Amino acid sequence: MKGGLIILSAPSGAGKTTIEQFILSEIPNVVKVITCTTRKPRKNEVNGKDYIFLTEEEFKKLIEKDFFLEYAIVHGRYYGTPKEKVLEEINRGNDVLLNIDVQGALTIKNKYSSIFSITSIFIIPPSIDELIRRLEKRGETKEEIERRLKSLEKEMSKWKYYDFIVINDILEKAKDDVKRIILSQRLRTDRFNLSIIKDEKLKKLMEM
Ligand code: ADP
Ligand code: 5GP
Repeated sequence: MKGGLIILSAPSGAGKTTIEQFILSEIPNVVKVITCTTRKPRKNEVNGKDYIFLTEEEFKKLIEKDFFLEYAIVHGRYYGTPKEKVLEEINRGNDVLLNIDVQGALTIKNKYSSIFSITSIFIIPPSIDELIRRLEKRGETKEEIERRLKSLEKEMSKWKYYDFIVINDILEKAKDDVKRIILSQRLRTDRFNLSIIKDEKLKKLMEM
């Protein structure tokens, strides 16, 4: 049975990476596809684990080669999702978790809704002040925080295009909400494969 695409988006600092790490360790058959970026690695980030870090020239060459499922300029830098890897994991039956911005989420939804089962989740912070505190806590510079807050207006208004919204106030509650969404989407009728029904009589009725 094929897997699906789970898209997690949120304004920077809302907590999607924290929630994503929990989901990956908690739910079997959910895999992360590492995306590409032209931004510089943060102190604790590793190339090939957190992102594939590329120069702008390298990134543009990959665009020409149709390497990306989608790509976008976010906070002034290029970010893109490798297509092959996503298709491979979905065909293997895994759910692919994509931590991407609102532009990428909308591109995928518009282009691929008839091809994959897509579930999109928008995570929001409880307040703007708390968002800024979280960015500071993560060690972002003042300049980088400014850059990220500038994108906020454009990003926040897009919540309505997502299937689900989760408020990340109490972290444990937000993690549990996202977990329940991911487990539930596996039971969607459009993901159901009749071949798992062993009772021939039952299967016949369902095939009608
Ligand atoms: P994002 O990936 O959305 O940019 P992160 O997951 O890196 O955000 O979270 C930003 C910071 O906020 C991190 O230091 C993280 O530990 C912290 N954080 C995440 N969720 C919560 C929460 N519910 N309460 C307090 N701090 C949080
Ligand atoms: P950060 O620089 O904080 O890691 O990520 C900035 C933003 O880029 C986040 O909203 C993140 O979800 C998004 N992002 C990461 N990878 C991709 C990608 O491949 N495509 C798109 N469109 N956005 C991405």
